Amino acid sequence: MKNIKFYIETIGCQMNVNDSDKMAEVLSEKGCLRTQDMSQADIVIVNTCSVRFSAEHKAYSLLGRLKEQKDINPDLIIGVTGCMAEYAAKEIKSRCKYVDFVLGAKKVDLFSETVSKYISVQPESKYKQENSEVFKYITIMRGCSNFCSYCIVPHVRGPEVSIDYNQILKEVNETIDAGTKEIILLGQNVNSYNYNGVNFTQLLQKISQIDKVQRIRFMTNHPKDFSDELIDEIATNKKICRHIHLPLQSGSDNILKAMNRKYTYEQYKNLYEKIKNKIPDINITSDIIIGFPGETDSDFQDTFNASRQLQFGGLFIFKYSPRPKTYAAKLKNTVPLETIKKRHTLLLEDSNIISKNINEKYIDKTIEVLVENVNDGIAEARNSQNIKIFFDTKENLKGKTVNVKITKVLPNSMSGILQ
Ligand code: SAM
Ligand code: SF4
Repeated sequence: MKNIKFYIETIGCQMNVNDSDKMAEVLSEKGCLRTQDMSQADIVIVNTCSVRFSAEHKAYSLLGRLKEQKDINPDLIIGVTGCMAEYAAKEIKSRCKYVDFVLGAKKVDLFSETVSKYISVQPESKYKQENSEVFKYITIMRGCSNFCSYCIVPHVRGPEVSIDYNQILKEVNETIDAGTKEIILLGQNVNSYNYNGVNFTQLLQKISQIDKVQRIRFMTNHPKDFSDELIDEIATNKKICRHIHLPLQSGSDNILKAMNRKYTYEQYKNLYEKIKNKIPDINITSDIIIGFPGETDSDFQDTFNASRQLQFGGLFIFKYSPRPKTYAAKLKNTVPLETIKKRHTLLLEDSNIISKNINEKYIDKTIEVLVENVNDGIAEARNSQNIKIFFDTKENLKGKTVNVKITKVLPNSMSGILQ
């Protein structure tokens, strides 16, 4: 009997990558084989995101291509999962009648049951896929209760729920035993993790006590919940990577208030400086939204100045996208798209210069990196600060920690020579 092949397209954030991994595990346990070639697949899962309109557009254009594939192969099974499947199930079903099932983000636990209706377990090939990934995302909490006024996440993923730490530790142990070196803990606001009185700092301590865990990363952090206790833990715990993603969103207090972020720029700056003082080798990156309703030239200038003043190691700059169900989508004082584009380019160009300048300090320095992949003689690795590093090698160094002398830097990556 021929193995059923499956393909998963993940759209959006790391939370979705983790859900896709879980669905891949379910399908592998049922004897199906993962393929990276969508045209060869018998089952295609489109794991959607709805944080920005562009992610939804991407999902519909992929579904359009899948219709052509299904016209040629009517046995093809198509499933749509994730955030968009949660709140726009009706629309997906009516626009794409050829889709076999739509399963929202809140029902990801029902994936096994749902997919079983379309495939039978193939006994001769029943196996659990070996996990040999260098790093693995592990979800520690679901949903979000913060209701930032622009954000769809609380509306589609529901309120924040922390996962039992015993379950998290079990998952960490399993993945580490299978060869994973680095654990990346995921949640919309990991700083407010709390399960039966165990907070995020205590969870980090429990995970770092597992011998074979080499590196721990986590994201995302909300500035309002970043405690001194957590800063001290990162400063003293060598297994925790020297990288913190700390979204600012805007440098203007008016906009931060309208966004319901619950901090002022001054409070953010104080936290930023406290972290930098206590952990000098930390790399802090951030998110910015350009063009939130009511953003004036002066508000934008505040954001631009904040980026210059704080000198982030990396900045993800998003154009504001009105999302259904959110408070901000009802605001009338929208910013023209042309203005948003202009401000986006200005900030992007300036922040790229800043990140590149920061990386210049690595030139001629030898640093430790963990190799994530080797393809065609080029290794892709990452340092503790989460900067991508490329170097030439003839060896298969995947999963190994090696030293590299940095010879060239760009805003978001560096390259060097293996030592
Ligand atoms: N929970 C995380 C936090 O508070 O930082 C981030 C989650 S969100 C999926 C990732 C980023 O997308 C946010 O930090 C924000 O910058 C951006 N984002 C969210 N909603 C957006 C919207 N409606 N338009 C543009 N960017 C948005
Ligand atoms: Fe969205 Fe704000 Fe929650 Fe992040 S903290 S997921 S931006 S509501």
